[in-house]
Amino acid sequence: QSKAAGRNTRRFFDPSMQARVLEHAELANDVRKGMTNKEFVLFFQPQIDTNLNIIGAEALIRWYHPTRGLVTPGHFIDVVEETGLILPLGQWVLDRACQVIAQWENASSTKNLTLSVNISARQLMQSDFVEQVMASLKRSGANPQRLKLELTESMLLNDVQDTILKMNLLGDQGVSFSLDDFGTGYSSLSYLRQLPLEQLKIDQSFVQDLENQTTIAQTIVTLAKGLDMSVIAEGVETEEQYRALALYGCEAYQGFYFGRPMPLNDFLARVEHHLGT
Ligand code: C2E
Ligand code: MG
Ligand code: MG
Ligand code: MG
Repeated sequence: QSKAAGRNTRRFFDPSMQARVLEHAELANDVRKGMTNKEFVLFFQPQIDTNLNIIGAEALIRWYHPTRGLVTPGHFIDVVEETGLILPLGQWVLDRACQVIAQWENASSTKNLTLSVNISARQLMQSDFVEQVMASLKRSGANPQRLKLELTESMLLNDVQDTILKMNLLGDQGVSFSLDDFGTGYSSLSYLRQLPLEQLKIDQSFVQDLENQTTIAQTIVTLAKGLDMSVIAEGVETEEQYRALALYGCEAYQGFYFGRPMPLNDFLARVEHHLGT
């Protein structure tokens, strides 16, 4: 077989591609079943301030798959987004997160914690996104001030005016917004000023390569302060990284150095332990 023929047929008959399509369809089916069977859970990764107090957590979805075991979102979130399943799954995440916030409000050790929730572009673009978030808050009785929604740069640019409107409507209720993976997207400084963001989240690529990326992490800290926003670094894995970031004036941290994403009860034990020491 000639190379040219190989190239021409590849697009249609590439077995690996066919396998991938099948895999995706299967995965989507599995996700649907998983939602019905309540196989999804939220894990919680601590967020720490400069005094090393736990100030909150990021909610990160996990899937207890009946045969594959614990599956992280890197293995399914793309397919979930492509198929639109992110809408029901994202709604479940919001509901569950708000339940947890409401539960936290019952204990003095947890009532001041904030919970950050990842929102996907498809969710934000929904015309009734604001109503959905408000409904989750209302159903659970959660304090909107404890809910922080994580958006990414690329999704903000789809329709800037519509995004600002939605953010302001939720912001009026007390919900705040953080810009996830900051520095990896394309947001211009003028957009940043227009968006009612409370926080910039320094992407882990800058945190983990501080030797080469020092100026970037430092610049983001300065930028956040100039824009009157708070700043958090994600992916902090070593004491060295934490110390360097602290020196730049970073105010909050999240990463394996302080704690991995963990089940709710483990997170609550961490909060109690922290207070006791
Ligand atoms: P993200 O929002 O940027 O979350 C941070 C990711 O970095 C998490 O991966 C977290 O476990 C990981 N991480 C935290 N600290 C460290 C560290 O010190 N070192 C390293 N190497 N990694 C660290 P995870 O949980 O696998 O989530 C991956 C992505 O999946 C998230 O990135 C987010 O974009 C998405 N995701 C997770 N949960 C949800 C959800 O409920 N809804 C939506 N739409 N997306 C979600
Ligand atoms: Mg995030
Ligand atoms: Mg991130
Ligand atoms: Mg990320």
